[in-house]
Amino acid sequence: MILGPQATPTPPGPGSGTLDEVCPGVHAWVQPDGSWWVNNAGAVAGGDSVLVVDTCATEARTRRFLDAVHTSTGGLPVRFAVNTHQHGDHAYGNSLLPASTVLFGHPNMREGLRMDPVIEGCPPLWDPVPDWGGVTRRLPHVTVESALTLHLGDRRIDLLHPGTPAHTTGDLVAWLPEERVLFSGDLVFAGLTPLVFMGSVTGALSAFDWLASFAAEALVPGHGPVLRGPAIDEVLEQHRRYYRFLIHTAEDGRSRGWSALEAARQADLGEFAGWADAERIVLNLHRLYADHEGRELDIPAAFGDAIAWLGRPMHTWV
Ligand SMILES: [Zn+2]
Repeated sequence: MILGPQATPTPPGPGSGTLDEVCPGVHAWVQPDGSWWVNNAGAVAGGDSVLVVDTCATEARTRRFLDAVHTSTGGLPVRFAVNTHQHGDHAYGNSLLPASTVLFGHPNMREGLRMDPVIEGCPPLWDPVPDWGGVTRRLPHVTVESALTLHLGDRRIDLLHPGTPAHTTGDLVAWLPEERVLFSGDLVFAGLTPLVFMGSVTGALSAFDWLASFAAEALVPGHGPVLRGPAIDEVLEQHRRYYRFLIHTAEDGRSRGWSALEAARQADLGEFAGWADAERIVLNLHRLYADHEGRELDIPAAFGDAIAWLGRPMHTWV
């Protein structure tokens, strides 16, 4: 049952990540508590190589992840890696992969990371302000528009785009059809507030039918614990309810002449109030307002309003 943020007796620092073997040779790197910048990643061993799914935000976290992968896979070479999307918590650590690793990503993911200024220094929107350590921008060598299949020995891994903007405009999932394991990236936040301001709320909502159609036995979300069995549908349905709540809140706010910030202030978060990073309601409403008005999202204004809603900078354990 994944209904709220994980209880953590101590601050979930960089040493708290664990590499969980979802099934033989398929590993999920799960970092509590999954809030801002604290992501999940993964590794799939097959034949004589390893595919890494995402890296981490900081040098320290990425080194711990890659060290754990090295140990758990008996030192097999990381020949391939994929970024599920452009966000720094999934991609800033790319530069710590071996020089010979071939990196895959959606074309919009590649362009997004290429243009991302935050890797050069994080603005003080978070407290404490993240320090990425020794990472540099490293972009995919191979872009995947809709689908690509990797074969690592007998193991098949499909890299697939949902066909719509969702979490971002350049999302990919990694699907293991034999093992029925889905690495969803940030299409799924298990027990934390989902974030779709750089993608599409309506697209993300429709992507849940696509995600459900895999009938995965295990799902590794972009943030939060690994999901198995009935917990998968439960969490997908929570996302659907949250996105419908966002759409209703935006429609109601616009009809009353409220700004995105005002609409967020008036909204009752209800069952979603216990999720970490609740201020994402402001960012998500900014996306709905921008799409309704047919304009680009004003990202600095959206973050400014999220901090105004919260009354302080956003929190991160990264
Ligand atoms: Zn993300």
